[in-house]
Amino acid sequence: MPESDYLVKAITKNGTFRAIAISTSNLTEEARQRHNLSHTATVALGRSFACGILLCNTLRKSKGHLTLKLKGEGPLGTIVVDSSTEGTVRGYVGNSSIECFDAKGYVDIDKAVGKTGYIHVSYDNDKGLPYQSSVELVSGEIAKDVVNYLAKSEQIPSFLSCGVYLEPDSGKVLHAGGILIQTLPEASEEDISKLEERVSKLDPFSILLRSSLSLEQIILKSFGDLEVRFLTEFEGLCFYCGCSQNRFESALASIGKDEIEKIIDKIGFAEGRCHFCNGVYIVSKENLEALLKK
Ligand SMILES: [Zn+2]
Repeated sequence: MPESDYLVKAITKNGTFRAIAISTSNLTEEARQRHNLSHTATVALGRSFACGILLCNTLRKSKGHLTLKLKGEGPLGTIVVDSSTEGTVRGYVGNSSIECFDAKGYVDIDKAVGKTGYIHVSYDNDKGLPYQSSVELVSGEIAKDVVNYLAKSEQIPSFLSCGVYLEPDSGKVLHAGGILIQTLPEASEEDISKLEERVSKLDPFSILLRSSLSLEQIILKSFGDLEVRFLTEFEGLCFYCGCSQNRFESALASIGKDEIEKIIDKIGFAEGRCHFCNGVYIVSKENLEALLKK
């Protein structure tokens, strides 16, 4: 596994395509440990993390966050990912212990997520106003659903591949990441069909990472004979949640005096769990009483 998760942006010199590639092995492993995820939930959340980060870096024109939500009818429940242009990501799945395998024993994401449902994306647009859009799921396989979202809702023709490779027994994340290639207006039909042919022959993304290719090498492999200019390299993609004891106590204070008195009488302390990072916060009786005095 590479020491740090990172992101690389590139454009073809003739201005026909641009690409963003990310490695997310460490942050996906951190999510697996924090949420105690099953193999299936790790792959589903790992793919969603990759898609969330790629979407955030494609759609957001200014600094901030993007939320990706996949709401399928499968047993995994809703997947929520919050990613930021600062390189942070956090998220969760509805049912973190579910396992779905196909006849060959591989994790079956379509079945876990469900082939029907919705993909929701929300972020601030270039005027700083909240923007939200949803389209129906087309496969439950996540990457295909995001490509369909980009085409239908954002009118961005794109190619997206993402993958998560686990150590078979332990379920530990060995490799995770993804690549998004966006077609730019300069690209002709011929350019697009050539690229499609090339990328359709590429190995799945987790296999590319397993074969020790760097993100730069994966981008070059995807573009073939097209000349490439690398634009940005950003190190330090990471799992991060901004929750804290103080925030939990402020949220608790907002439920009102009567409710806090009820908690003191009935339970004697307050406990809360953050959905995004599974962090647990406890407020003792003494501190609840102090909150009342404030
Ligand atoms: Zn949290």
